[in-house]
Amino acid sequence: MLSDITSQKNAEEKLRFLANYDFLTNFPNRKLVLEKIGHSIKAYKYNRKKSALFFIDLDKFKQVNDSLGHSAGDELLCGVADILVSNVKSRDIVARQSGDEFMILINDFSSIDNLSHLAQRLNQCLSIPVEIQGTQVSITSSIGIAIFPDDGKNSDDLIQKSDWAMIHAKNSGRSQFQFFTQNMTDKAQARLKLEADLRQAVADNKLINYYQPIMQCEGNRVLGFELLLRWPTDNGMISPGVFIPVAEDIGLISQMTEDAVERALQDYSALEKVHADIYISINLSTIHILQKGLSDTLESLLEKYDLPAKVLRLEITEGILFADHDIALIRLRELMACGFKLLLDDFCTGYSSFTYLSQFPIDVLKIDQSFVFDIDSNPMNKAIIKSIVSLAENINLSCIAEGVETQEQLDYLQSLSCKNIQGYFFSKPKPLHELVQGLIVP
Ligand code: C2E
Ligand code: CA
Ligand code: CA
Repeated sequence: MLSDITSQKNAEEKLRFLANYDFLTNFPNRKLVLEKIGHSIKAYKYNRKKSALFFIDLDKFKQVNDSLGHSAGDELLCGVADILVSNVKSRDIVARQSGDEFMILINDFSSIDNLSHLAQRLNQCLSIPVEIQGTQVSITSSIGIAIFPDDGKNSDDLIQKSDWAMIHAKNSGRSQFQFFTQNMTDKAQARLKLEADLRQAVADNKLINYYQPIMQCEGNRVLGFELLLRWPTDNGMISPGVFIPVAEDIGLISQMTEDAVERALQDYSALEKVHADIYISINLSTIHILQKGLSDTLESLLEKYDLPAKVLRLEITEGILFADHDIALIRLRELMACGFKLLLDDFCTGYSSFTYLSQFPIDVLKIDQSFVFDIDSNPMNKAIIKSIVSLAENINLSCIAEGVETQEQLDYLQSLSCKNIQGYFFSKPKPLHELVQGLIVP
């Protein structure tokens, strides 16, 4: 006996949909999101990937509903759902919890900073006024964030913690977000402030160039100056170790470096006494090197100041090893073809590979200060330095030792015929005009 069960199957499918999805937005409901959190928790055992749950509540939604009616309220909720989904990745799950509450489950995030950026972006997008049934409506939102496994052990617990965090966010004003732990919220807010301040500082040209001489031991001769950025603020000088990674993250590093190079070329041109053989060594971030057009930008800056390519040397780090090998090679060859010498900075502190040395057009190795600073007491570091110097010699590269502070360190390096030195022994980084007064410049 055969019978057509299509209508029965359709009815079952419809029931399943009704049980798991919200009737208004067609997004997963609380039941389905609970299940999905459960899956992520199980998967954590194998992939160790943390999950984040955003609990989003609209501020003053009730007023819209009461004053404009339920159909306007419904339209607004559908608009909110669309905004949420358009701001997350397709693998993230946006759900409607109930009324004006939504949840987003994020299963794979690269950093806490990424979560705070997302929360900030969602709050911003949701606060843009929209037109509903001919009336301008503006709402704001509050977001609470809880993280598995740090803040909650199971699905219910995680939802509860994100809900508490959301209430905390609502109590601190409109368009706010909070992590479940205060410490995390403080860190997220400090980071967002740092980013905003840095953007402003770059726009206002507040960053300045310091330089540290690179010396040839014989005759105390200055060979070049390494450009090291400084950020003066009301609370003192902020170290590049703090702001460079932030600039890289927020896409500011290229602009920042190009501005610094321009200031460097101005400084350089203004120094009449400077010998033509002196160079300025600039630090380049990997993401900047990988971008198309760096060689053209550097060339046109040099042209503007009527200076040859040998004025600039480029310091790159082993970080480029992790980049797309083919693109990295193309970019480095472009730079080399323009006549720039390439220095490999912080050599041996990352995942150095000798293959890389033979494949990439490197001219100089910089021995990292971490090997130099305890030469006197650490025979291992002494041996590493000796090996780097002889490696460089064998493959026809030159070496610069960084972080030289004492006569003993200098003596040891000279005994290995490492003749090029940088460090506080000669000078700390300073503005160029201060340096030139105190040093013998040929
Ligand atoms: P780096 O390129 O390895 O620069 C050397 C760092 O060692 C500098 O720190 C310098 O001030 C410090 N130093 C030099 N001699 C001595 C010494 O004798 N003893 C000790 N203890 N330290 C010494 P700084 O200026 O704080 O810069 C830190 C890092 O920030 C740099 O390390 C570089 O990676 C990065 N950086 C600085 N300016 C720029 C820039 O314009 N672009 C990029 N991408 N990175 C930069
Ligand atoms: Ca450097
Ligand atoms: Ca270095």
